[in-house]
Amino acid sequence: MTDTVKFLLDESRLPRHWYNINADLPEPMAPVLHPGTHRPVTPDDLAPLFPHGVIEQEMSTEREIDIPEPVRTAYRQWRPSPLYRARRLENALGTPARIYYKYEGVSPAGSHKPNTAVAQAFYNHREGVRRITTETGAGQWGSSLALAGAMFGIDISVYMVKVSFWQKPYRRAFMESFGAECIASPSDTTAAGRAVLAEHPDSTGSLGIAISEAVEMAAQREDTRYALGSVLNHVLLHQTVTGLEAREQMAMADDDPDVIIGCTGGGSNFAGLAFPYLGEQLRGGRQRQFIAVEPAACPTLTKGRFAYDFGDTGHLTPLTRMHTLGSSFVPPGFHAGGLRYHGMAPQISHLTHLGYIRPRAYNQLECFAAGLEFARAEGIIPAPEANHAVKAAMDEAVRCRESGESRVILFNLCGHGNFDMQAYTDYLAGELRDQAYAEDEASMALAGLPTVGPPAGEQP
Ligand SMILES: *Cc1c(COP(=O)(O)O)cnc(C)c1O
Repeated sequence: MTDTVKFLLDESRLPRHWYNINADLPEPMAPVLHPGTHRPVTPDDLAPLFPHGVIEQEMSTEREIDIPEPVRTAYRQWRPSPLYRARRLENALGTPARIYYKYEGVSPAGSHKPNTAVAQAFYNHREGVRRITTETGAGQWGSSLALAGAMFGIDISVYMVKVSFWQKPYRRAFMESFGAECIASPSDTTAAGRAVLAEHPDSTGSLGIAISEAVEMAAQREDTRYALGSVLNHVLLHQTVTGLEAREQMAMADDDPDVIIGCTGGGSNFAGLAFPYLGEQLRGGRQRQFIAVEPAACPTLTKGRFAYDFGDTGHLTPLTRMHTLGSSFVPPGFHAGGLRYHGMAPQISHLTHLGYIRPRAYNQLECFAAGLEFARAEGIIPAPEANHAVKAAMDEAVRCRESGESRVILFNLCGHGNFDMQAYTDYLAGELRDQAYAEDEASMALAGLPTVGPPAGEQP
């Protein structure tokens, strides 16, 4: 049996700042627009939803943003997270490639999401916010925010996509254990939820609907704000702590990645690992290959349109220019709930549009097969979402076996699958099917995109 090779950073090397890729973009991003006026949003427009500290970060172009000491203290419970070299997987594949993974499953919620949850809870707490509303799909984000709320003394209300609410009772119990309130969405507690229920009483919900409910709740109350677990600039910023650590750990390993891989739902764990490296490249440094991996059943980057769209179904959020399948698109119920979102982070979309990031899509069965092969070699059962990154890393390694190249592959193992045993049970029983992407439904959703003029100076 080959030894596990693990690279651990000393606590004193926990990053002191996050990396903001807005400082290094080769072309500026299209402005975020107000949903009513279609004019660029101002900090005041966002103030009912987010604390000022977060709004500042959302719009910042500073390259390095200090991580506040209370956030570093919270991080220290599980950070710096380990970087592993997957020697046993390399042997199993017979590849000359060197495969590394950054493991974010060591956080108390089992994924990368607490990296932003504790930061957002801190800024809300500092500004006197009493309650935060949010949505959750698979339950990982709700779990992470529930944990962060308990740490900073903030009440958390989570709108959980109804199908997950019923399918994942352990996730709900996890949130409630930390004192959070968990509401199945669509619900009758909001106008957005009631509107969906009136039309589709049996709706099993979607992230887009749950976001509308959470935003509506937050906008109504002075002591309440909203938090999003992915997509927005400040979330991707907070996640860069993983890539900043990984850079140091790769130096400890005396190696340097040629290929960097992450799964993409809203884009935050991928960005967290990739952006510190991509920023180097944008400043004239080494070029690398960046691969964003998504489910073929919700192929936002590979089949979506790069256009202005709403972040939610109820059209309460600002408009951002991103890859989208249309805000009314409801992806089929495959088992990587964290990847079922119609849109993509505007920063990821922008950099994909400019050719810096290569997107790729896989079906769920091939991802579960890869995840089990990984688990049997490395001893960690990946989250179903993370299996997409595992599959891409293994494909790259197999390609190296065929070409004889010894490339260095780094991927984000963004969470463990210990809460997702039902998915593995179904897979092992042969009950999972690949879900086709509903081309016609998506084209209907795309036909409903808002009409917004192209930014000044650009061709339509
Ligand atoms: C939420 C989640 C994702 C998807 O979100 P990103 O913002 O794309 O990272 C992926 N993996 C896991 C384990 C998650 O919890």
